[in-house]
Amino acid sequence: SDFLRQTDPTVAALLEDELERQQGHLELIASENFTSAAVLAAQGSVLTNKYAEGLPGKRYYGGCEFVDKVEQLAIDRVKELFGAAHANVQPHSGAQANFAVFLALLQPGDTILGMDLSHGGHLTHGSPVNVSGKWFKVVQYGVNKETERLDFDQIRQLALEHRPKMIICGYSAYPRVIEFDKFRAIADEVGAYLLADIAHIAGLVAAGQHPNPVPICDVVTTTTHKTLRGPRGGLIMTRDADLGKKFDKAVFPGSQGGPLEHVIAAKAVAFGEALQPGFKEYSIQVIENAKAMGAQLQKRGFKLVSDGTDNHLILLDLRSIGMTGKVADQLLGNTRITANKNTVPFDPESPFVTSGIRLGSPAMTTRGMGEPEFTEIGDIIAERLLNPEDEAVAESCRARVAALCDRFPLYPHLNTPEPA
Ligand code: PLP
Repeated sequence: SDFLRQTDPTVAALLEDELERQQGHLELIASENFTSAAVLAAQGSVLTNKYAEGLPGKRYYGGCEFVDKVEQLAIDRVKELFGAAHANVQPHSGAQANFAVFLALLQPGDTILGMDLSHGGHLTHGSPVNVSGKWFKVVQYGVNKETERLDFDQIRQLALEHRPKMIICGYSAYPRVIEFDKFRAIADEVGAYLLADIAHIAGLVAAGQHPNPVPICDVVTTTTHKTLRGPRGGLIMTRDADLGKKFDKAVFPGSQGGPLEHVIAAKAVAFGEALQPGFKEYSIQVIENAKAMGAQLQKRGFKLVSDGTDNHLILLDLRSIGMTGKVADQLLGNTRITANKNTVPFDPESPFVTSGIRLGSPAMTTRGMGEPEFTEIGDIIAERLLNPEDEAVAESCRARVAALCDRFPLYPHLNTPEPA
C-alpha cells in the first residue's frame, strides 16, 4: 500500500517482489492456494491490535465485544460447513491444532499409530524430530507396496499388536480417498481415539467431494489455508461437545496465548466463501484439473504414485526417468513452476534428495484454469523434465508458463499503478 511504501520502502519492495513472483509463476505446491481479496483484507485489519484470551463471551480482557462476534461467526460457519458439534478456530497453525489434541487426549509415553512421513504422513504424526515423536511411542504404518494405497490389513495388525491410544489418519502427500469408516472400525476394535488431520483435503470435504470424517472420527484437525482457501491457520472440530471443551482448554491456556483475531476474521470470511455454491464448483474443478495434469504426464511416460489421483494432488515417481526430486524441483523452479520434491513410498533416496515431485491443482484452479490449461501444464512439466539439458526447451517452456500466467491474472488490484 501507499502507507507501507512511504514508511518502509524496503519491506514494501519485497512484498511487491513476492506479488510479482506469485503472479508470474505456476504455483503447484499442493498445500498452497490464493485467498480472496476479502480474506486478505480481513487479515490485514485492526483486529491484529486486540488481545482476546479466552473464548467468545468468556474473555480475560475488556473491549472484546466485536471480536467476540467475529470469532462466534467463524465458529458457527465452520460448524455448519462440516456438520461439527464443536469447533475451536484459534490454533495458529495445523501443527498447533495437532499439538492441542495430543495435549488434551494423551500422556507422555502413550502409543500413537500414524503414517510414516516418507509414505505421505506429516511431521506432527510421530516423526522423531517433532514433539509427537519425542513424547509418544510411535508406531508407523505405510502404504501397500503394490497398490501404493492404504493397507488396512497392515494398519489393523499394527493396531492389534501395539494397542495405540490414538490412531491418526490424514496426510500431506496421499493422492487417494481416505476411508475413515475403515479406520473407525479398527480404532473401535482396539479402543483408540481416532484423529483425522484433513489439512490437505479440508476444502474438498467441505464441498462434499471427499468423505467427511467429522461424523466418524473423535476429532478432526485441519489447516485453513490449503484447499479450504483461507488464511494460514489451524482448526479443531469434533462431533462430541464434551470432548470439545477439552480441546478448548488445550488450545488456551494449554498451548497458546492470545488468539489471532485478525486471522480468525479472515477464517470467518473464508468459511463464508466455502458455504457458497461456487466453492463446490471450484472443488470439483480442483479434482478434475489434478486428473487432467496427471493424465498428460502419464501420456508422456511418467509414473504416478498409485497410478492416478482422487484429489487435488499427484505424486510423480521420477525413478522411471532416472531423475531425483531435487533435480526436478530445480528444473521446474528455473522454468517458473513452483512445486516441491517429495519422497515416494519406499523411496531409496534421502528426504533431502527424494525420488518424487508433488504437484497440486488448488492454486492455479483459483486463478481460473480448467482442464485444457492443466493438460498444458502437465505437458510443460514433461517437456522440461525429459529435456533437462536443452536450453531452447527451457526457454520455450518459460514462454508457455508466461502465456498461461498472463491469461489468468492474479490480484490485479494489487499492482502498483504505473507513474503517469
Ligand atoms: N497436517 C498436515 C497433514 C499437513 O499437511 C500440514 C502442513 O503441511 C500440517 C498438519 C501442518 O500445518 P502448519 O504448517 O499450518 O503447521
